[in-house]
Amino acid sequence: MWNRYLLFIKNICLATEQNADPLDHWRDRLFVSGIAFLLPFCLIGLIPGLIMSYINQFIPLFIFDSIAFIVSVIVALVPRIPLVIRKWAIFMVFYGIGVVLIFFIGNYGPGLMYLLAVSILMILFLPNNQAYISFYFNLATCIIFSLLIHFKLISNLPKLPNLDLVHWITVSSNLIFLSAMFSFLIPKLFSRLENSLREQVTLQEQLKKGNVKLEQSLEEVESKNKELEHFTYVISHDLQEPLRMISGFLELLKIKYYGKLDDKANTYISYAVDGANRMRLLILDLSEYSRINKITDDPVLLNPKKILDELQITFQNEILIKEAEFTSENLKPFYGYPSFFSVLLQNLIANALKYSDPNRPPRIHFSMTEREKDYLFQLTDNGVGIEDEYFEKIFILFQRLHHKNAGRGTGMGLAIVKKITDMLGGEIWVSSEVGKGSVFTFTLPIYLEE
Ligand code: ADP
Repeated sequence: MWNRYLLFIKNICLATEQNADPLDHWRDRLFVSGIAFLLPFCLIGLIPGLIMSYINQFIPLFIFDSIAFIVSVIVALVPRIPLVIRKWAIFMVFYGIGVVLIFFIGNYGPGLMYLLAVSILMILFLPNNQAYISFYFNLATCIIFSLLIHFKLISNLPKLPNLDLVHWITVSSNLIFLSAMFSFLIPKLFSRLENSLREQVTLQEQLKKGNVKLEQSLEEVESKNKELEHFTYVISHDLQEPLRMISGFLELLKIKYYGKLDDKANTYISYAVDGANRMRLLILDLSEYSRINKITDDPVLLNPKKILDELQITFQNEILIKEAEFTSENLKPFYGYPSFFSVLLQNLIANALKYSDPNRPPRIHFSMTEREKDYLFQLTDNGVGIEDEYFEKIFILFQRLHHKNAGRGTGMGLAIVKKITDMLGGEIWVSSEVGKGSVFTFTLPIYLEE
């Protein structure tokens, strides 16, 4: 109820106000909360005064009370009045109460309190550079009344006791002292508050600008990535056809002119065939890499043991030649993406076979562990191993280490593996010891059954 009333008053008074200065904005809001709070209380205070002055036919008080009543209601409830006018109207009401109390009722104490309150209200609600107005305002009030009393212009007011100049100066000097003190002290306090508010606003603005820049850069990176992916796709796709022609004609050349050319020519032709084949592999890997873009399907139940068995068939030639042996541990069906999983494992197995130690047959072990939020897979081999300094580099596109006896490659296998794990929300890393073997570990998130 109270909150609704507060919101109602705020909507009326602050509708047209947009103060950019943080401290002035704060002052405006404080003022509006103040009048919202004051309205019911000042009405409670004014209504008895109105009734009493009417009954006793005390006309000046009746007039003033009526004006104060109307002004308070207008200030709080009439829309489209500039806030600065609302503020001055309230100051004047308080000023009027002080003057009436002193000069029409003879209450110096409460009267001076009201005049001082005008000072404090002005300091609170007007900008810092206008804080001294209240001091000059009260000074002027005291001097004007001193003159009025001195020239006996208000001496015949019936309610004012002991009205002489000395008496008035003694009383009013207290007011001047207090309003001077407040006028100097409170703005000092405010300037500190102002600084910290300004700092806060500057920080917020910087943060906003930073965020906008970050969003722009993200968008740029995303669109550049898309461009690059499209480019890679087009290149790898369009290059395949002419390359097939080159390889084909080179093969023809080799067959047709075999024995008719000298040794040098034969070597050159086999170099060219070799080069064309390597390029074909590169293009195939590149198009594979560019195809890994985003996940479009839902995860399905996949059987890692089955995929491992299928891959062993794919690599059966190499397995037979190198007398490789595979073992596995704890492989259980889980929800995931079979095609991505298969490509991932295929590349790791291909490397484990390719970078095996020529002095011992490859032993390859694949294991799975279910953790709290993901599955952890490990492919362990007893191959040539990798030096520590290359642990991260090998996952970068086209990065190869030149092992002796290593088979051919494009330097894209592990980049493809990394792209897949990244895209699926997992991670991949390697640990290895040269001469002993390597362990490739990757994680994949656990998808719950729908
Ligand atoms: P490629 O095999 O075509 O060279 P990859 O991206 O698959 O490209 O691998 C990058 C490099 O990491 C390889 O050149 C190789 O030196 C090293 N590497 C990858 N797997 C293994 C492994 N199992 N054992 C030792 N070295 C490896």
